[in-house]
Amino acid sequence: MTRSAILGFPRIGAHRDLKKAVEAHWKGQLDHAGLNRVAADLRARHWTTQKGVGIDVIPSNDFSFYDQVLDMTAALGAVPARFGHDGGPVGLNTLFAMARGTDDAPAMEMTKWFDTNYHYIVPELHTGQQFTLSTTKAVDEFNEAKALGIETRPVLIGPVTWLSLGKAKEPGFDPLSLLEAVLPVYVELLSRLASAGAEWVQMDEPILALDLTEAQRKTLKRAYGLLSEVGPKLMLATYFEGLRDNTELATGLPVSGLHIDLVRAPDQLDAVLEALRDDAVLSLGVIDGRNVWRADLEAALGPVDTAVARLGPDRVQVAPSCSLLHTPVDLDLETGLDAELRSWMAFSVQKLGEVVTLATAARTDRAVVADTLAASSEAAAARRTSTRIHDAAVAARLAAVTPADTRRHSPFPDRQAAQRARLGLPAFPTTTIGSFPQTTEVRQKRAAFRRGDIDQAAYDGFLKDETERTVRIQEELGLDVLVHGEFERNDMVEYFGEHLSGFAFTRNGWVQSYGSRCVKPPVIFGDVSRPEPMTVGWSSYAQSLTARPMKGMLTGPVTILNWSFVRDDVPRSQTCRQIALAIRDEVVDLEAAGIGVIQIDEPALREGLPLRTTDWDAYLAWAVESFRLASSGVADETQIHTHMCYCEFNDIMPSIAALDADVISIETSRSDMELLDAFVDFHYPNEIGPGVWDIHAPRVPPMEEMRRMLEKAAKVLPADNLWVNPDCGLKTRGWPEVKASLENLVTAARSLRQSK
Ligand code: GLN
Ligand code: ZN
Repeated sequence: MTRSAILGFPRIGAHRDLKKAVEAHWKGQLDHAGLNRVAADLRARHWTTQKGVGIDVIPSNDFSFYDQVLDMTAALGAVPARFGHDGGPVGLNTLFAMARGTDDAPAMEMTKWFDTNYHYIVPELHTGQQFTLSTTKAVDEFNEAKALGIETRPVLIGPVTWLSLGKAKEPGFDPLSLLEAVLPVYVELLSRLASAGAEWVQMDEPILALDLTEAQRKTLKRAYGLLSEVGPKLMLATYFEGLRDNTELATGLPVSGLHIDLVRAPDQLDAVLEALRDDAVLSLGVIDGRNVWRADLEAALGPVDTAVARLGPDRVQVAPSCSLLHTPVDLDLETGLDAELRSWMAFSVQKLGEVVTLATAARTDRAVVADTLAASSEAAAARRTSTRIHDAAVAARLAAVTPADTRRHSPFPDRQAAQRARLGLPAFPTTTIGSFPQTTEVRQKRAAFRRGDIDQAAYDGFLKDETERTVRIQEELGLDVLVHGEFERNDMVEYFGEHLSGFAFTRNGWVQSYGSRCVKPPVIFGDVSRPEPMTVGWSSYAQSLTARPMKGMLTGPVTILNWSFVRDDVPRSQTCRQIALAIRDEVVDLEAAGIGVIQIDEPALREGLPLRTTDWDAYLAWAVESFRLASSGVADETQIHTHMCYCEFNDIMPSIAALDADVISIETSRSDMELLDAFVDFHYPNEIGPGVWDIHAPRVPPMEEMRRMLEKAAKVLPADNLWVNPDCGLKTRGWPEVKASLENLVTAARSLRQSK
């Protein structure tokens, strides 16, 4: 019988209950018992919700207080020595210490989970590392569900993904060499799950969606050769990309089931059906686990029917493409969205229903779900033709874009001369990245305005005062290119989304980003355009206060795209170009208003890179083109800046150079300028501001430290092209350290000018 299955359900709770409980615990306001009660409550609610909707295969151990990779690390007892763990069970205190650090032990690193905005805690691996089963969380949660009368399929991060995501603590050490050391722990855990009654266990191996090395392939074969013998049937879960050249490898592993992502890679179905082992179950990821759109169920039934016809009903499961961790919890809470938009959307709870409908349609007479299927088709048709989505003017404008629109008038050297003549800046010009401290007062005023407690005039008056104060402070500090401070912005993407057509905002559409942190991405539902200027008022006001150049501050098209839920009815590249045209309008208007320096931030350019390297060029081509489309509408003497942070540049240097920004500022101080090497090796031709102040901590860097970094940069790059700036915006910092640090920064630049 075709079954409905879920790979993971969001654990934060419909009202971010888990975030609140965990943070209360960290503050000492909720003890372990209290925290565990909230957690058990959430788990029970999520299991019963799934059961209630009719999901056949319900996951357990998809819950986590912080991160599922960290949970696996804890289960393996892989606690780094600095946390002083003396063997034995790893408890909650140790878990949180690993994630957040303590006074004497820095936290473990955190990085992005594949191409999502979720961050996991990176395992630390070293020669001779030993592993012992150190938590029973997976077994406990299985038993907990069982006690509620719910049979679950526990989820584990598979050994090859866990090792591959780990970081070698010594140069040259290969984490995969630890396979034989971790396997016995997996064997023990699987046997315990079997004894507890688990018939199936889901092994997450998303690594199978990446380019694999020969060593990884071997490791996968060895691991699953052994683990499939232990007892529970294994459902090997892959997601976020197609299996492609790993198809034979994945289908050849002796597991009882394979899950594939047919939303990202619908084309892989035939190859997988062809290669699948005779008795293996195929789990079809046909409902998008990464987005907020309601599925077109008739269309989704296509691959389900194909698979059932080929494999028979018993060997097919219907599921979302990946864990629902990446989708908000419940659309029913979105009372602020209009009915039409809502009718096009589905969050996790609604997606459960979609999965059940598809499984029901596959296993019974389709008439049973005929109404639901018809409603879905109707919604899909309405969305396809809605005038709210399709804007003929936007389409016409995009079609009329020529290559000339993506090129500045003159090559960089000519622009540089024109800009120098206009701006008259000293050598080693100083600037900041845009935002100044978003103090409690700033946030309270915004909240008060949103609640309606203060009116527009009062709010604007406050923002103007704040901006003026910030301009004066920058003048006093002696900065060369000023910024207005971004006090009117809550968030660098949300602010623009709120001013652009084609965007919607949810009240409660939170997804976990890391630990207790959640983000609420905007939803891009239609063609994007800019009804009216978004930043010109604030930038002109700030410029009117000072004789120094005021830098206009915009978020770039690629970053806006990558930090939003995007349409699934057109390619990402098309939406990106639309946003680029909207930003271009803003750039041109800023120039017309007398703003001579304009920064277009693209911190998320790199994170949009596809998982497979063969797809990189195509992405980079349209990403770069979009930036250039946004930035090329201005005269030579208008200086375009861009900014990027948390980014490796080495392998994308040609694209960074192709952006052809007049100035790029990057985060380099944390790596002690190491990230600059890519620019040196590439002979980067344009101007560059390597960050000299790590803004992630309240520490005030001494002047000598910043000067030393600048000297280091000046040795390897043309000194004439160097700017002096912090690593990133200052919104999370406090005023005292901002003033002290910027004073040192300006002094460092001045001392360098003297020795020139
Ligand atoms: N202009 C933004 C700021 O200063 C840039 C933020 C970012 O790069 N993440 O806050
Ligand atoms: Zn930044």
